[in-house]
Amino acid sequence: MSTIKVGENLYLIDIQAGGIKNFIASYLLKGKQAAIIETGPMSSVPNLLSGLKELNVKFEDIAYVAVSHIHLDHGGGVGTLLKFLPKAKVIVHSRGAPHLANPEKLWQQSRAVLKGIAEMYGEPEPVPEERIIAASDGMTFDVGADVKLTVIETLGHASHHQSYYESSSRSVFPGDAAGIYLSEIDVILPTTPSPFRLDIALASLNNLMSLKPKTLYYTHFGKASNPSEKLQTYSQQLSLWAKIVKQGLENRESLKVISERIIRSDRAVQRALEHIRVHPILSETVFDESLRGFIDFVEKFN
Ligand SMILES: [Zn+2]
Repeated sequence: MSTIKVGENLYLIDIQAGGIKNFIASYLLKGKQAAIIETGPMSSVPNLLSGLKELNVKFEDIAYVAVSHIHLDHGGGVGTLLKFLPKAKVIVHSRGAPHLANPEKLWQQSRAVLKGIAEMYGEPEPVPEERIIAASDGMTFDVGADVKLTVIETLGHASHHQSYYESSSRSVFPGDAAGIYLSEIDVILPTTPSPFRLDIALASLNNLMSLKPKTLYYTHFGKASNPSEKLQTYSQQLSLWAKIVKQGLENRESLKVISERIIRSDRAVQRALEHIRVHPILSETVFDESLRGFIDFVEKFN
């Protein structure tokens, strides 16, 4: 499995769900104990485990598994992973917690929306309730040796989304709150599935900016420098998409016309177009799911 050191006490594991590289990252943060940030889906847990073995971490030393939210590509693997980690507790937003304990509804909804992609991610296994910490904004988890993870509630992408802040290194793990970062071409794309809340997502981005982070560690995908610029860029991109969608709906344009207008107006999308077209997940999500999120938001709140 491919693991790389990306910070002082921090390692990235490319979990290669569905064989796709550079798409979902899981992070191992080491203190006296250790924490995992993001598990990826159920189907790639074996890859995550072999990454952990490669990094020589003892499974009983892993105190926390922190997920940004319960979507399958972020937290779908928690239940399966916990069977191997005897002492770990799961940190999840309080609204997501019941769905980790009882993932049946989450699975049905994911299948309805994501179809084949959900099957590829795999059905999540339940997490024993006593191992779940229903977290809230500001809660801090200590892994020893001055390494701590603080919960930063960042709703908008989902109503059960939180990011994590490690203060000694001023690192932020934004989950999906800061978009999808294509590190190979240094481009950010929206991840805004319905029921996306633009207003709340922008406020969350401001909260992340106010931390003045030194580094972002994206789940999709990898380490990014110049965090303020990245967060600002994403904020502007969301506003641009919203403006185009609003105009498009007012002019009764079709989805196709609206997405063409986004392509003409958003330079990041232009640069990423080839990447999106050939990508097994992004080809289905960027102009379908993400655009749908904007349309539903504009129709409901404007
Ligand atoms: Zn995601």
